[in-house]
Amino acid sequence: MALKLTQYAEIGSDKSLSSERHVLLVLNEKTEKSLPFAKILDNKLKRSKSEFKDLRKSPMTIELPNGGLASFVVLGEKLTMFQKHTLLRKAVKPLLDEQADNIAICIFGDEATKEVNACAAYYVTMVNAAELPSRKKDKKYKPLKEISIYGFKAAHDYNYVNARVAGNTLCRSLTMLPPNELTPTIYREKVKELAKEHGWQHEEFDMPKLKRMGAGAFYAVGQGSEPMDAAIVHLTYTPPNNKQKSSKKNIALVGKGICFDTGGHNLKPAKYMQGMHEDMNGSAVALGILLAATQMKLEVKLDCWLAIAQNHIGPLAYKQNDVVAALNGMTIEIVHTDAEGRMVLADTLTLASRPDVNGELPDVILDYATLTGSMAVAVTDRMSGVIANKPELACKAIGAGAVAGERIVAFPYEEDMDSDLDSDIADIKQCTLEGGGDHMHAARFMGKFIENDIAWLHADLSSTNSKGGLGAVQSDVNGFGVGFGLEMIKSLIV
Ligand SMILES: [Zn+2]
Repeated sequence: MALKLTQYAEIGSDKSLSSERHVLLVLNEKTEKSLPFAKILDNKLKRSKSEFKDLRKSPMTIELPNGGLASFVVLGEKLTMFQKHTLLRKAVKPLLDEQADNIAICIFGDEATKEVNACAAYYVTMVNAAELPSRKKDKKYKPLKEISIYGFKAAHDYNYVNARVAGNTLCRSLTMLPPNELTPTIYREKVKELAKEHGWQHEEFDMPKLKRMGAGAFYAVGQGSEPMDAAIVHLTYTPPNNKQKSSKKNIALVGKGICFDTGGHNLKPAKYMQGMHEDMNGSAVALGILLAATQMKLEVKLDCWLAIAQNHIGPLAYKQNDVVAALNGMTIEIVHTDAEGRMVLADTLTLASRPDVNGELPDVILDYATLTGSMAVAVTDRMSGVIANKPELACKAIGAGAVAGERIVAFPYEEDMDSDLDSDIADIKQCTLEGGGDHMHAARFMGKFIENDIAWLHADLSSTNSKGGLGAVQSDVNGFGVGFGLEMIKSLIV
C-alpha cells in the first residue's frame, strides 16, 4: 500500500495537532518560543534538569495529553548532514518503536533550511520504517501508512527521497538475507526479476562463458564452489526520454557480490567468518543505486556489473601459489585465498572498462566492495574509504559523501606501492602477506585491470555494518554507499 503524504504550509497548534498520535518536531536553535506543547516540554526539561539547548545533543520525547508521543530535536545550523541524520534517527526511533501508523513531522526555521531539514526528516523516517527481512515466527511488520508534514510545503512530492529509500532498502534487504537464501543461483534469479520489473537490459557471463573468454581471475574464485553458479551479471539502465544523447554521461557501477566468504583454503576462524554473508554488500549497493537512479529517472546511462560468487574450500578451490591469467592477459600469483574480492573485481573491471555494443566507453567507473580489513582498521566502521586513479574524483567523492550524510575518507593511489606486488613468477602478486596498507595495495592491484584509462573510483565499504546504526539508518546493516553513490552520479552528470 502506498504511503499517504499530506503537507501543510503552517505549523499546527496544540489544538490542530491534537489528532496526531506520533509527532516529530524538528526545530532550529531559534524556535524556542511558541512551540506546540511548549508547556509540557518545559516541564519535562525542568524535571530532567536540562535546557532547550540540550536538544541539540540529544532529542527528547514527551507524552501528549491525547495519549500521543512527541519527539523534539534541534538541528543546529552548523551541523553536517551526517550529524543531522544521526540526531533525526535518534528522535524518530521512539515513534517508530511504537509501530506508528501515522507520523506528523513539524518543520521549524527559516525557509532556506526548511527544505533541507524536511527532506532529511522524511528520509530518516521512511528509511527506518521500511520492511527488512526477518525470520522470526511471531514478528509481524506493520507499515507506516501516513506522513503529515507541517510548516513546509515542498514543490515536489519527495520522489527523490523515496527513490533513495527504495535503493537503500533493497541494498539492506539483500545484504541481510541468510546465505542459504542468497546463493549465487538465487541472487542471479532475483537480479533477473528486478531487471524485468525495472526495464534494465540483462546479460550474464556464467562460468563456462568466462572460461572461454579467459577471465581466469574471476574463474579462480568461482571454481571452488559447487555448483559453479558464479557469474558476472551486467545490467543497463537507459534514461526514459534520452533526448540529449550526445551529452549524456555513461557511468559504470561495479559491485563485489561474494554471497559467502569462508576465506577459501586460507580459512577464516569462526569469529571472522561470522557475518560473511554480507560480503556481497558492494553488489547490493550498486543495485540500490541503480534502482534509485531508475526511480529518479536520472539522465545518465548506467551499466551495472555485479561480480557474484562464493569463496569456498573444496578440491577445485584455488590455492596459494597458483598462477592464473586474467581477462586482460596479466598473470596473477595467488598469495592469500581470502583476497578473493580483488580477484573477482579484476576481470569485472576489465569488462566494465571496455567499449559497449555501440562502441561507447564509460566516462567513469564507480566500484563498491567490502574489500579489506585494513580499511576498517584505518577508518573504523563509522566511515568508508575511497581510492581513485584521478585525484579530482576522490575530492568529488568526499563532497558527495558530505551531501549524502555518509562520511568518506580518501586514500592515495601511488605508483611506488606497486613494487610490493612484484612477483618472481607472474606479472603481479595478488596481495602481500606483510600486512599494512592492504586497502591501498588492493586498489593498486585492481587498477591494473582497467583498460582505456577510464577514470575510476573504488569505495572500500568498511562502514556497511555498524552496531547500533549509523547516520540516518538504525539497523546495523545500513546500506552505506547508496546515498553517496547517488550524489556522486548527480555531481558527475551536471
Ligand atoms: Zn575474503
